[in-house]
Amino acid sequence: MKLNKTLLLLALASSCMQLFAQKQQTAAASKRPNIVIIISDDHAYQTISAYGSKLMKTPNIDRIANEGVRFDKAYVTNSICGPSRAVILTGKYSHKNGFRDNESSVFNGDQDSFAKQLQRGGYQTAWIGKWHLESKPQGFDFWQVLPNQGQYFNPDFDMMDGSKKRIDGYVTNVITDEAENWLDKRDDSKPFCLVIGHKATHRVWLPDTADLGRFDKVNFPLPANFYDTYQNRKAAEIQDMSIEKTMLMGYDLKMFGSDDKENKDGNFSRMNAAQRAKIDAYYKPIEAQFNVLNLQGKALTEWKFQRYMRDYLSTATSLDRNIGRTLDYLDQHGLSKNTIVIYLSDQGFYMGEHGWFDKRWIYEESFRTPMVMRYPGMVKAGTVSNRFVMNLDIAPTVLDAAGLAIPKDVQGISMLPALKNQADKGRQVLYYHYYENGEHSVSPHFGIRTKRYKLIRFYKRVAGWELYDLQKDPHEMDNKYGKKGYGTITADLYKELNRQINKFEDKDALQILKDR
Ligand code: CA
Repeated sequence: MKLNKTLLLLALASSCMQLFAQKQQTAAASKRPNIVIIISDDHAYQTISAYGSKLMKTPNIDRIANEGVRFDKAYVTNSICGPSRAVILTGKYSHKNGFRDNESSVFNGDQDSFAKQLQRGGYQTAWIGKWHLESKPQGFDFWQVLPNQGQYFNPDFDMMDGSKKRIDGYVTNVITDEAENWLDKRDDSKPFCLVIGHKATHRVWLPDTADLGRFDKVNFPLPANFYDTYQNRKAAEIQDMSIEKTMLMGYDLKMFGSDDKENKDGNFSRMNAAQRAKIDAYYKPIEAQFNVLNLQGKALTEWKFQRYMRDYLSTATSLDRNIGRTLDYLDQHGLSKNTIVIYLSDQGFYMGEHGWFDKRWIYEESFRTPMVMRYPGMVKAGTVSNRFVMNLDIAPTVLDAAGLAIPKDVQGISMLPALKNQADKGRQVLYYHYYENGEHSVSPHFGIRTKRYKLIRFYKRVAGWELYDLQKDPHEMDNKYGKKGYGTITADLYKELNRQINKFEDKDALQILKDR
């Protein structure tokens, strides 16, 4: 009998403690921050005023940086659209999450992700806009995504019930509208995580009609290495992503040569009559003038560069304006104080450096990405961070902020401890691996970047090594691999590359090194 009484008391005590723990959890949950992650596509840090760009003003991205932290050394693990999103979702490198390239990969949505973890932890989750992972989103209470790359005008969306929905308007405005609609309807008893995936500023840089001609009076300076001849850099020499040779007069620059060709272009044929009239009223006189000029050689290449810059920056104007709309929504609904806002691009982009557009390379302009974060109460306004962070760190950072455990197999690092503790040096080396071997003819490669050096191993299309001293050669024009005086540093970097490959268990890279 005595034993039974003791058991009863123990059981009572235990259930009381459980109740207490539950109450504590509810209290913690109500204080947990909301999370808004805005991911743009191909948005170059060189065009963002927070990063010192003189090309245009981006007041709303700048606002996030001014009210939070600007990461000046933010990088991606694999500089291309789909793979970057898979890395962001999972916190794992491409060889672990399985989505290596845009040509053949399909994301296995059954694997774990920060969205699933947040959902299990009591968050309401949504992804709206560009997704580009070729399988249905999982881990989201709501999703509404652009099929593949999506369209700039009157975009179609894949809906949760399997239907397609076309929404009239310009894609960046429409995605922001739909994000607001979801926020209006959400269950406000729970914290939320909303990912807004913008299509802008992806090729073909088609601006909103409201932004046409915004940069027409500007003559943009050519980057110093615009006429790069790629000496001693075989992979760079054989690429197919130059403004001169690759950028198309019709598809990219909207100079179609005939109405018939323009009508056949999918981006144009889907516009309604009013949109088309405005677009034509802008581009047709430019084309007529271009035809009179009859440009050749460098004059033609530089004309293409100016047109590229104007279209790209006009498209980015709408992106920044719509980021401002999302910030305003949070203000107007009393959400700003308890909401983390992260803005990043899926990678960087070339604005004529090396003569290029596009991305893919471990070279700085595509490897580095813009990333800013506002986290009231945690991050001091106006913080500038020079630590190495990556898109790999988004998943563990949001889990950390939500007070959830970071699974052991996540390869990224929460950015929060280093922001709290300035003495924390964080990551010292960045590891990169690009796989795609198709469009734009960029050879697959992997490599590391330290604070000063970069060691790169190309394979498949080109087999070879490159070494850069970023202190002496920030534009990566002078490949020092195999040059006199660089033996010791090369050996050290080679060891470090091996360490990184082993650390992240990149078996393919390890095999390539063994075969050399
Ligand atoms: Ca991209």
